[in-house]
Amino acid sequence: MYPRLNIDIEKLRSNLDGVAKITKEQGGCSLMIVTKGLCAEPAMTDMVIGHPAVDFLADSRIKNIRTYAGKARSAGKQTLLLRLPMECEIQEVIQYADISFNSEPETIKLLSQEATKQGRTHKVVLMIDLGDLREGIFFKNEEDIYNTAELIHGLDNLELYGIAVNLTCYGAIIPKNDNLSQLAQWAENIEQKLGITLQMVSGGNSSSIYLIGKGELPEKINNLRLGEAFLLGNDTAYGSKLPGTTDDALILEAQIVELKEKPSLPIGEVGVDAFGQKPYYEDRGIIKRAIIAIGQQDTDPGSMEPLDEQMDILGASSDHMILDVSKCTKAYKVGDVVSFKVGYGGMLKTATSPYVEKVIK
Ligand SMILES: *Cc1c(COP(=O)(O)O)cnc(C)c1O
Repeated sequence: MYPRLNIDIEKLRSNLDGVAKITKEQGGCSLMIVTKGLCAEPAMTDMVIGHPAVDFLADSRIKNIRTYAGKARSAGKQTLLLRLPMECEIQEVIQYADISFNSEPETIKLLSQEATKQGRTHKVVLMIDLGDLREGIFFKNEEDIYNTAELIHGLDNLELYGIAVNLTCYGAIIPKNDNLSQLAQWAENIEQKLGITLQMVSGGNSSSIYLIGKGELPEKINNLRLGEAFLLGNDTAYGSKLPGTTDDALILEAQIVELKEKPSLPIGEVGVDAFGQKPYYEDRGIIKRAIIAIGQQDTDPGSMEPLDEQMDILGASSDHMILDVSKCTKAYKVGDVVSFKVGYGGMLKTATSPYVEKVIK
C-alpha cells in the first residue's frame, strides 16, 4: 500500500557506524542515539540496541522509550528522557527511563519521591540554557544552577549524573567552542562545589558533531545526542553531509491519482488556501500536473525532495500533493509511484502518520 516510508536498516546501520566513528573514535565522546525522528520504529531501535558503539537510547516521549526500555536494558544500554518530565508521567519516567533531563526543582522532588517508592535510583542531568532559550536554567543565573545541582545531589534515590545543553532548536544558535566551553566550565564549577565527578557533560545534538572534525569540541564535553545525523546523515549546524553517511536510508513513496494538463495559475478571485494562508502561484503557463495521494496530514511538503530531479512539488492540501511533471523525461501515468528523500520534518510526520505504511528493508 501507498503512501509508504521505506526504511533501509542496513543503510541506517552504516550511518550509525559513520557517526560512531566521528563521535567516539575522533571525539572521545559517549554516543546517545535519539529515536524520536522515526517514532521509535522497532526495526530501527532493535538495530540501535544491538550496535556495539551505542551507549544510550533517548527520546523526548516516554511512550516511545517504553517500547524499548526492556530490550535496551538487557543489552546493557541506558535509556534517557530528553523532554523535561510532565508531572503526570513521573511514575513512567522512573519506570522506563534510567536518566532524565531536568530543570525544575518541583519536578525533581517528585522524581525523588517516586524513585524512592519504586526502590530505584534515577539519574538526573541538569539542563543549562546557553542562549537558545528553550529548556534549561539560564547560564547567567549562577545561584539557581548551584542550588538546583545541590538539591539533586542531596535528594534520596537521585544521582546528579551530569549537565547538558540543547542548541539550534528554538533560537537556532550554533554550538561553538566558546558557548560549549561555558558548559565545560559549569561542569567543573559544580564538581568543585559539590566534591563530585559528573559522569555526563552532554554538548548537544546533531548540530554539535561538526566541531569534532574541526578539533573544536571542548575536552570536558564527553557526550553527544544524535538523531538527524544518524537518520539522515546531516550536520545540522551548517547543513553539510557527514562522512560515512547517506541521506537515502529513508525513501517516501506515493502514488499518482490524477495526471492532467492545466494552467499553473488558479482561475477566479484568490482567497485563502485549505490552511488559511494566502498562496503565491508562479505562472508557468499550461503544465502537466500530477496529483499524488499524500498530503499535509501525512508529511511536510517543504521537507521532501523528488528523486526525479526534473519534478517540482507545487504544493499540498491535507490529502493531495500537486507536482509539476512537465519537464520530466519519464512519461508518468496514473498509478505510477513517485519517490522522495525526506528532511527532518518530512521524516517526523511520515513516521508518525498512521496513514503511511512503514516498510522495512
Ligand atoms: C531531539 C533532541 C535531540 C536530537 O536532535 P537531532 O538534531 O535530531 O540530533 C537531542 N537533544 C534533545 C534535548 C532533543 O530534544
